[in-house]
Amino acid sequence: MYIVQVASECAPVIKAGGLGDVVFGLSHELVNQGHIVDIILPKYDCMRYDHIWGLHEDYNDLWVPWGGGSIHCTVFGGKVHGVNCMFIEPHSNDNFFNRGKYYGDNDDNFRFAFFSRAVLEYMCVSNKRPEIIHCHDWQTGLVPVMLFEQYKYRGMDNQRVCYTIHNFKHQGLGGIDMINASQLNNDLYYLNPDRLQDNVHKGGINLMKGGIVYSNAVNTVSPHHAWEARFGNEGYGLGHTLYVHEDKFSGIINGLDYTIWNPEVDGYIDTNYGPDDFELKAYNKKALRERLWLEEKDRPIIAYVGRLDDQKGVGLVHHALYYALKRSAQFVLLGSATSGAINNKFRNEKNHLNDHPDVHLELGFNEELSHLIYAGADMIVVPSNYEPCGLTQMISLKYGTVPIVRGVGGLVNTVFDRDYDEAHLPEERNGYVFHHTDSSALESAMHRALELWYTDREAFNQLAIQGMRCDYSWKHPVEQYVEVYERIKV
Ligand code: ADP
Repeated sequence: MYIVQVASECAPVIKAGGLGDVVFGLSHELVNQGHIVDIILPKYDCMRYDHIWGLHEDYNDLWVPWGGGSIHCTVFGGKVHGVNCMFIEPHSNDNFFNRGKYYGDNDDNFRFAFFSRAVLEYMCVSNKRPEIIHCHDWQTGLVPVMLFEQYKYRGMDNQRVCYTIHNFKHQGLGGIDMINASQLNNDLYYLNPDRLQDNVHKGGINLMKGGIVYSNAVNTVSPHHAWEARFGNEGYGLGHTLYVHEDKFSGIINGLDYTIWNPEVDGYIDTNYGPDDFELKAYNKKALRERLWLEEKDRPIIAYVGRLDDQKGVGLVHHALYYALKRSAQFVLLGSATSGAINNKFRNEKNHLNDHPDVHLELGFNEELSHLIYAGADMIVVPSNYEPCGLTQMISLKYGTVPIVRGVGGLVNTVFDRDYDEAHLPEERNGYVFHHTDSSALESAMHRALELWYTDREAFNQLAIQGMRCDYSWKHPVEQYVEVYERIKV
């Protein structure tokens, strides 16, 4: 099958979070299973060009309808670890993708509405006719809208769209000026409850809703989160839209790319190891301590890796740090804050704890260091408020680092409590789960993990090894995606 992925991220070239990992991992496994895949992305100035092989001009005469006229674009091609990628570069004073960052400007809606338009125009004029266009998150929500309202009449009537929602919180909400700028014309037609009108702000256009309404299949990234989005508050106002379109909505868990996330071959860690030589993991703990100036002693290291965002339960992350110290454990944090207030809070904490021999806070994004932390830590905390899938717990499992997670979203589908999960046999259990959002719930799960580490190291290591043997590769999720593609294709 020929599949085009359309997204705003693709690791390791463009990665702000899990979306980047998923777009690459999914595409890579599709290619491994014999499918043809192109990934179309914006050409940002700040992406990691060192991970693109053979970057070249692929199409130089692309004119993308926009505003009152059109914008000239160049499309570049290149390989990212063996997968075909295309990068769209607009030449205009709007400077859409030359801002030193991927997201976070007031005109983000316009930037990605433009990107969606550019993707379709490029496919249309360069004669790319995939069976499936697979779009990701709000940034690409207009692709199916434009495809079925406009491009289907320009020779693209056999293309079908699969739309994957990685995070319901960010939906791309804007005014009807976005519709006009995109040259969709007839703004009132789109500002309609059955189409793109936001379910709460009735004067607003919701790009993610457009993606749901117009796509042939829609999914989010775990079965449990699909349920939460439909029946709980996790759909952030889109629950009714999912109800209307329930027949095409499902949950497919993300996978991990084990060619990248695998302690047996990982080039960023000190010593490679696997479930059969688990004792070698200790060298990575030592290396992590040396790198982060932590004291060498017989104590567990508890880690947090992830965005510092309300979604991730930052209050509980902060609490975990102090509870770890209270229990004589060491704590390592690698996180990039998504707001100034959160950044200040953790920066102050970092200054306060700067000389502490048992704590290291690394504020910022550091791919290489994240690998060493996964390999060197004993436990990881994931106390999220909500978590559509979550990759950090799956990476930790592969690295024999025991996850302590809140039971929400994809965490429910991947982490099984050692003491209480009756749905799984003891030998299938792999971590600790708590449910409430208060600090005592977190403490009780951390307490159970720490007690096992302190009192029965063999049992603790056994739990870690059971986690390493779980299969969260892309193999099964890709089979499910291919089933979806087969179902919707012409
Ligand atoms: P989300 O997509 O909500 O950010 P996920 O758990 O799905 O969370 O994916 C997070 C991914 O981003 C993981 O690969 C994790 O290792 C990585 N990551 C998050 N924050 C950082 C950071 N500060 N430095 C390096 N990698 C990070």
